[in-house]
Amino acid sequence: MTTSTAARVGTVPLWIEGGPAASRGTRTGEVTSAATGRVVRTVPCANAADVDAAVAAAAAAFPAWRATPALRRARILTRFRELVERDQKAIAASISEEHGKVFLDAMGEVQRGIEVIEFACGAPHLLKGDYSDSVGRGVDAHSRREPVGVCAGITPFNFPAMVPLWMFPVALVCGNTFILKPSEKDPSASVLLAGLLKEAGLPDGVFGVIHGDREAVDAILAHPGIHAVSFVGSTPIARHVYTTAAAAGKRVQALGGAKNHAVVMPDADIASTADALIGAAYGSAGERCMAISAVVAVGEVADPLVVRLAELSRNLAIGPSMADGMDMGPLVTAAHRDRVRGYIEAGEREGARLVVDGRGLKIPQHEGGFFLGPTLFDHVRADMTIYRDEIFGPVLVVLRVKTLDEAIDLVNRNPYGNGTAIFTNSGGAAQKFEEQVEIGMVGINVPIPVPMAFYAFGGWKQSLFGDLHVYGPEGIRFYTRLKAVTSRWPKGDAPPTGFIMPTLG
Ligand code: NAD
Repeated sequence: MTTSTAARVGTVPLWIEGGPAASRGTRTGEVTSAATGRVVRTVPCANAADVDAAVAAAAAAFPAWRATPALRRARILTRFRELVERDQKAIAASISEEHGKVFLDAMGEVQRGIEVIEFACGAPHLLKGDYSDSVGRGVDAHSRREPVGVCAGITPFNFPAMVPLWMFPVALVCGNTFILKPSEKDPSASVLLAGLLKEAGLPDGVFGVIHGDREAVDAILAHPGIHAVSFVGSTPIARHVYTTAAAAGKRVQALGGAKNHAVVMPDADIASTADALIGAAYGSAGERCMAISAVVAVGEVADPLVVRLAELSRNLAIGPSMADGMDMGPLVTAAHRDRVRGYIEAGEREGARLVVDGRGLKIPQHEGGFFLGPTLFDHVRADMTIYRDEIFGPVLVVLRVKTLDEAIDLVNRNPYGNGTAIFTNSGGAAQKFEEQVEIGMVGINVPIPVPMAFYAFGGWKQSLFGDLHVYGPEGIRFYTRLKAVTSRWPKGDAPPTGFIMPTLG
């Protein structure tokens, strides 16, 4: 990145001590408009000194913030929710520009984030401890949930507002301070949210933003002043974050990648199932961790389903993210688009049947944009690269099996375990699938079963390293430490202190 480019397009600032801040580092990255391919901003790549500064601010703000009654913390979050609603369009427009997803989809992303803020506003109730009187003669017991300290969130490019909002409203309302390291590919939404937190009355230092790549992440993982790390991204990095942060004594939840299967039974309604699958496979250009990327067609449903999927995918409206009526926009970067193209070539080489090829797509006046059309493969086998790897683009693969048992076995053998869905009219088949499938989030005739904010989001197997899912009651547990208190107030009748293990009876 040259100095003249930075001067021309402006820089996304870090956010430290309640305001924009410059990086102490010298490296920068380029943020592009996905639809045009032009550089629209630069982003500083934070270094260890930047992380130190953010941690110092967050640590200094922690004592007063944890001492603030939960009710007051929740009121600031309530005001924040109103402000995010007020600025929802501006946040969504920034996501559309940098990420490439269509505007209405970006609005939906912000909406799902707002729902987590709403959940967090219930903290005074959610943070209540347990109480038991007379656990022994004159002895009572109670538990308290206390904040963990300075927490960090490291988030992926594909949901630049929603994934951070899965984390920090819950962390903050529990009394923690928080440092966010968003994706360097679409960093602007995080700074817009930081500004709204300040406007809502959040004290300076309670929330900070650090941009950058591996250098910033590794400084977070090694920093002794950070007590808990939430990560969402690809599986190799999730594993690195989990092992490194856990070895440094931190609490960690690290959500990884996905290969989400939709099992389609012979009794499913073809038209509505194909409609649901098209949106789930190609919405946001397939760059969703809950996108359906593999269809498992059971029995004779395969032929008519593939015909319908091909028809629908050829008719999608594809174009610049902010244009009206678009179903699908570009991918996030040229490098990612080229990586996805590479998978299409691998699928052809390995002998899958290419039914729809998205590689020829051209969008007039947007020749520099990172577009790739919807692509459909049939007769895919489990040993092919396009099935084994997470492609994270508009590529849907169809595998054919004979029975539901075979379908469940296929899903369970896949190393990822984020989401899955079954399409059927049979309650018995749905029940069997729900019981036997080894996946964290299951849809029954629902293609993208993202849990509501008052449940919790998380996969199994290589889609999550750690114990607790994000947001919902699991989020409250992750961002608090449990303290158990046993108390006696003797009135001159205390039993003598003994030398044996005390019993309370
Ligand atoms: P990514 O793993 O490349 O990046 C995620 C974060 O890690 C970013 O902040 C990035 O700056 C940082 N990072 C990248 N390389 C790093 C390295 N070598 N060392 C340390 N930090 C590094 O993921 P992405 O491409 O931004 O996002 C797409 C991935 O995220 C997909 O695999 C998708 O399935 C996954 N994802 C999962 C969920 C989920 O809930 N399980 C949700 C959204 C996205």
